[in-house]
Amino acid sequence: MARRRKDEKKRRRLRVKKGDTVLVISGDDRGRRGTILRTIPKEERVVVQGVNIVKKHQRPIQAGRGQVRAGIIEFEAPIHVSNVMLVCPTCGEATRVGYRFNEEGRKVRYCKLCEADID
Ligand SMILES: [Zn+2]
Repeated sequence: MARRRKDEKKRRRLRVKKGDTVLVISGDDRGRRGTILRTIPKEERVVVQGVNIVKKHQRPIQAGRGQVRAGIIEFEAPIHVSNVMLVCPTCGEATRVGYRFNEEGRKVRYCKLCEADID
């Protein structure tokens, strides 16, 4: 494979952030709403509470200090931002997000449906 420079893809700012409520629009969890627990801007992924739960079988580990018990661990795996839509806190609809400047000159997100500021 030819050598390529490290990831020159423009780093796009995520339109959603931690604490936002989003609607999942594709995949097994389609239609589910949840709160964003974590964002991974580099990969354009987000972790949404209760969405994309994966199970990991953990075998008991007995290492140095501490012991991990055997069992099935469930946790939310990251999903791509394109699979979620922000739910507007004002109108409660899944919406597209725009940016604009408010009266104080601060850049804020707004709901393209009801025009309310989101931040
Ligand atoms: Zn709205």
